[in-house]
Amino acid sequence: MAIVVLREPRKELSQDFGPGDPVDNIEAIHAAPADPDVSGDPDDRTFCGKSTLDMERVYYQPPGPGAAWLPANMQDWECRDCAAALRSQ
Ligand SMILES: [Zn+2]
Repeated sequence: MAIVVLREPRKELSQDFGPGDPVDNIEAIHAAPADPDVSGDPDDRTFCGKSTLDMERVYYQPPGPGAAWLPANMQDWECRDCAAALRSQ
């Protein structure tokens, strides 16, 4: 099954942390089913039930069956609910 990996941006940006790695602004990494009608677009909701509207697409596809569904450098932000849903696919 095709999935789309999505980045949920951190909302509270009131403080200026200065220059840094942009991954600091990640709230969580989610996965959504690919929209069956629009190639490459995510469905309306992630596997954990969040709206995909405010999320940014991460251009990553698992390299093969059994591979991690999200990039290795983003595993700290893995959404556990999405991960559990994907494991039960
Ligand atoms: Zn999720």
